[in-house]
Amino acid sequence: MQNISYLFQKYGCPNRRRQCHMYAILPDKPMQRLVLFDIDGTLLMGNQQGKSALMQAVAPAPFNREHRISGKTDLQFIFECLEPHYGEHELTRRLPDLFDCYIAYLRESYITDNRVRLLPGVRDLLNALESHRSVCLIGLLTGNIQRGAQIKLGAVGLSDYFTLGAFGEDGRYRRQLPPVAVDRALRHCGVHFRNRDVIILGDTTNDIDCGRPLNARTIAVASGFDSHADLAAEKPDFLFHDFQDTDAVLRAILDPL
Ligand SMILES: [Mg+2]
Repeated sequence: MQNISYLFQKYGCPNRRRQCHMYAILPDKPMQRLVLFDIDGTLLMGNQQGKSALMQAVAPAPFNREHRISGKTDLQFIFECLEPHYGEHELTRRLPDLFDCYIAYLRESYITDNRVRLLPGVRDLLNALESHRSVCLIGLLTGNIQRGAQIKLGAVGLSDYFTLGAFGEDGRYRRQLPPVAVDRALRHCGVHFRNRDVIILGDTTNDIDCGRPLNARTIAVASGFDSHADLAAEKPDFLFHDFQDTDAVLRAILDPL
């Protein structure tokens, strides 16, 4: 019998209580959808605390403060800022300390700044998906490293909704994350989710782009960092201004495509 803490590590689960439950009571019919949510601009909106914390962590190396982070993984942002300064080998050696530093800044800013808000319709959508848990595996696909994701979701009371995830330390580029989530889902419930049964929800063109290699179903929402027009130009399968129309978003997730 594998020890449960090993399983948490293996499945990359930010939610130990739900992981415990999900592992103990396996579903009696096969899962049909793997539903993967981005965090920033999709589920919640902060006050740029994440970017500020990352910038504090990478200082004092020189970098452009206007450097865009949305849609990228934390790893990509750090390499873009610091690889020219340190080189790949030295930066890789410094990564654990950089991430520790980032998490300390992020935790402090989320404790002292209460301007983090849940985006419209998100809680109703997640609660509605709860009633489809027998066929939907709900997870995260985020550029945040796992510890950062836990802090952000905890700030708005969303920690308990997600069974597994692919995170910012799983790949430098967002396109590397969907196969990681699919593999963790396979190990979690024995189902190899393919093509349109993998659903990626996000607020940037990078979220839409990262689903292409797997032919995933992409659902874009213009509640975050990229405009409705920019998202439309990337041709997601569905595009919403926000998630307030719960039934419409549920149909986009559940209906055959
Ligand atoms: Mg986002």
